Amino acid sequence: MAVRLAIVKTGVKPHRIVILGGGTGGTLTANRLRKAYGLDEASITVVDQDDRHVYQPGLLFVPFGLTHDEDIVRPRGRQLHRGIDYRTTAVDHVDIAAQTVHLVDGGELAYDVLVVATGAVLAPEETEGLVGPGWMEKVFTFYTPEGASALEGALARFEGGRLVVNVVEMPIKCPVAPLEFCFLADWFFRERGMRDDVELTYVTPLDAAFTRPVAARQLGGMLEQRGIDLVTEFNTGEVDGAAGRLLSFDEREAPFDLAVVVPVHNGAAYVARSEGLGDALGFVPADQHTLQSLAAPNIFAVGDAASLPVSKAGSVTHFEGEVLVENIRRFLDGKALDASYDGHANCFIETGFSRAMLIDFNYDIEPLPGHFPGPVGLPLLKESHLNHLGKLMFQWLYWHSLLPGRDLPGVHSAMPNAGKDLRSRTDPEERAS
Ligand SMILES: Cc1cc2nc3c(=O)[nH]c(=O)nc-3n(C[C@H](O)[C@H](O)[C@H](O)COP(=O)(O)OP(=O)(O)OC[C@H]3O[C@@H](n4cnc5c(N)ncnc54)[C@H](O)[C@@H]3O)c2cc1C
Repeated sequence: MAVRLAIVKTGVKPHRIVILGGGTGGTLTANRLRKAYGLDEASITVVDQDDRHVYQPGLLFVPFGLTHDEDIVRPRGRQLHRGIDYRTTAVDHVDIAAQTVHLVDGGELAYDVLVVATGAVLAPEETEGLVGPGWMEKVFTFYTPEGASALEGALARFEGGRLVVNVVEMPIKCPVAPLEFCFLADWFFRERGMRDDVELTYVTPLDAAFTRPVAARQLGGMLEQRGIDLVTEFNTGEVDGAAGRLLSFDEREAPFDLAVVVPVHNGAAYVARSEGLGDALGFVPADQHTLQSLAAPNIFAVGDAASLPVSKAGSVTHFEGEVLVENIRRFLDGKALDASYDGHANCFIETGFSRAMLIDFNYDIEPLPGHFPGPVGLPLLKESHLNHLGKLMFQWLYWHSLLPGRDLPGVHSAMPNAGKDLRSRTDPEERAS
């Protein structure tokens, strides 16, 4: 109705902007666009398959009883500004040639600009045995609300033994979250006076605790200090829940009494059904500086759905969103795109005992020590109570500032260098390895 009135008023058809996915990226992009365009200038439609917006960083705290489902889930539609059309249905496929989205409920949406923001989808069934015997009994994931809640019960009942935290395959959302889980598990069992009864092991397909050398050394050292074993280059081929062991493709074993597994992540299934849209994993290749997809100039990708050499993280999605909105405007105005997204990522790493570490990096600069966002600010690559408070406060900022599309003071899409110790960079050869 709003769109029809707008045509009558101006005689010009509003741009049709369709956003697939109403999570972090879809919501903040829709809200920023709604502020940028009047109702007579653009119609904005968001499609999501459900109406439960989960604050995903909160999932980390659920297994330890530090927060609960009801504290981290809100209705999706309520996060969208007035004047945004919200459809609760799944996407069936995109017909790029016809510039039309086909929905599972039979509806069709024609678009002038399409934003793919359907995130990453967990595929536990792709790992042999993972959802077989023992699933949700002694094999869990905290990457879903159901899994995180079930794990809370299992941790409360755990009487000691071998607890294994395993990443099956990269990429995953928030690559530091499984490490945070290890640190919190160490804290949890110490608090309960049973740390000596628990053998904690972090099993990763990477060759170190993390991808970037300076941070990998630091995080590896923190695992060691806490007596958490690190098993690297372990590519999980099978989870044998009955016998309690992970098996790698090269026939190594990691035995467990309780396993916390981060399953394989793919792009949404409709991407594969949309000819020309995605890659083999269902992610959408895009220009790493403009976010314009390689599929068509009027399709953009944001957040976890995009295939870019950057972490799948809410902070990345937020920084990309700022550049994306500018580029949608430029595209619709027929102007050259802004190629300013530098791969900026920023992440609080909860380390237990009310402390956290902060890392800040981009495509070219790995996480380095110093301060963020300038010489006086939060300590980088260093545990502190201040960073823990920052991590907790972020949930409020997420709902009240980031999603509504407000700028966060001092935090921008371009990575700041002012407070960083650039001398501690590793040489490029080591970084590439
Ligand atoms: C345990 C955990 C901890 C995390 N911690 C942090 C952290 O500390 N810091 C940080 O920066 N990031 C963190 N993240 C990552 C962060 O939550 C994500 O990177 C971010 O939410 C990505 O936003 P997005 O919009 O790309 O995807 P999402 O927010 O996941 O949204 C995708 C949306 O697409 C919808 N969708 C999917 N398929 C379809 C379909 N076929 N039809 C219709 N709709 C569909 C989904 O329902 C979903 O709403 C964490 C993630 C997890 C799981």
